[in-house]
Amino acid sequence: MTLPPNLPDKPTRDALHARLRFYRELGIGELYRREVDPTLWAQPEAAVVEAQFRADSPRRPEPSSVPASFSPPDLFPGQETDIAPRKPFPAAPPQAEALPPEQHFAALKLIREEIGDCTRCQLSKGRNKIVFGDGDPNAKLMFVGEGPGADEDAQGLPFVGRGGQLLNNMINAMGLKREEVYIANIVKCRPPQNRTPEPDEAHTCSPFLFKQIDVVRPKVIVALGQTAVTYLTGEKRPLSGWRGTVHPLRGTKLIVTYHPAFLLRDPNQKKHAWADLQIAMRELGLKLPAKGN
Ligand code: URA
Repeated sequence: MTLPPNLPDKPTRDALHARLRFYRELGIGELYRREVDPTLWAQPEAAVVEAQFRADSPRRPEPSSVPASFSPPDLFPGQETDIAPRKPFPAAPPQAEALPPEQHFAALKLIREEIGDCTRCQLSKGRNKIVFGDGDPNAKLMFVGEGPGADEDAQGLPFVGRGGQLLNNMINAMGLKREEVYIANIVKCRPPQNRTPEPDEAHTCSPFLFKQIDVVRPKVIVALGQTAVTYLTGEKRPLSGWRGTVHPLRGTKLIVTYHPAFLLRDPNQKKHAWADLQIAMRELGLKLPAKGN
């Protein structure tokens, strides 16, 4: 495969990838590219910021070639611009009948068998282990993440890496043990380089997650990050539009918080995640810490 001539080197691409992930977890989904003066790259950051500030300043005179009004450019005379509407998210499958608690374990096993040695999407090509889910089949609380990382792919269990350690601490802070909750992801196979799952991958895999939710029937689901809430609800909004309130989902209560990987990168946000977890605790009837603690 020939790479485009001006593709940044691997470390730069990795850094850009990490930065985009960071923005996505903040709830920023769309970024616009603007031309950057290449001479700015060579300058110290303060000088770049100042130059950008000057460039963005409203005092800067408008270049005379830029028209004040906007009208669609006549790029291809005689042709209509053809921007396809965004494909609507497929509707989640209807909720399955509730099962008696003693049947939950066997019902989850059947879902795992239905998945089999899955090749339904391209993620199967790079995976080592399918990460089905883990925890109590009768859990009152369920966490949903995005997709397995390297550690999860190696062990076949969700959230066992560094993010998993933080998630365990979050669960413990709620007064629960990891074995008492259920944990799963939007996709069950590791995306290459831990990239965000593509919509077709998420839509292919999520029906199995919905089946798991319908079997476990937790009282509360905590969505960890943007990808989880987007594909659980079929609705794309910034994370800030979800956090802080309880949303109905398949007969359970959905609460949204930051992904542990994001909290590892920005520990200042842990206090906000803790506020979200306390909403979950309130809904579960768990004892809240005394004020001031
Ligand atoms: N990140 C996720 O979203 N899920 C995991 O299982 C691990 C890391």
